[in-house]
Amino acid sequence: MLIGILAYLLIGFVLNLFGILAKSRKQEFKDTDFINFRNSLLGVKLVPKWKLLLYKIIITVISILLFPIFYVIVYKGNYKKKVIEKQHTAKAKDTRLYFHSNISGVGILTCKTCSHSEKITSAVHGYTDEDEPWSLCSYQCQGCGKFHKVSNEMEKAGSVLCECGGELTREKPVFCPQCKTFELSYKMSYIT
Ligand SMILES: [Zn+2]
Ligand SMILES: [Zn+2]
Repeated sequence: MLIGILAYLLIGFVLNLFGILAKSRKQEFKDTDFINFRNSLLGVKLVPKWKLLLYKIIITVISILLFPIFYVIVYKGNYKKKVIEKQHTAKAKDTRLYFHSNISGVGILTCKTCSHSEKITSAVHGYTDEDEPWSLCSYQCQGCGKFHKVSNEMEKAGSVLCECGGELTREKPVFCPQCKTFELSYKMSYIT
């Protein structure tokens, strides 16, 4: 029994010295120190040093005693972080064109595969005599690939469907209306 408890504590101790659990606890302490340092610059009343030390000791002891729980929490957190990082790199590697990120103003869209070229209005804004500013945005039909100019008034009226019945959207990657590939380039002429 005693050996079991000692072995358990030893594992907890070792896991708090090396590996993800140790790393996470060190980061936590670094963050605490940083907050204290920042507060000292801001002139905020500081937490006494002995309280900080006590806090670190308590956290370390709890982390050793309850290491299986902490281990699972840290492991899950790391896993989530990795998934998010993966999504970010996938997005950064995506060379396709999107209305929101790399197509702005008015310009020429050219297909690298079939050489089809077309002038499109990604988004233009302006003011009329009326109070409300107008805007004109391009939407692409997901069925036939045709670009449609949709004003904010049309959007409000809810009449945004292609003649072919396809869904119009600005949220998906832009594709060539002729050969349907994503290998496109865009050259902006002007922006408003
Ligand atoms: Zn094409
Ligand atoms: Zn269509």
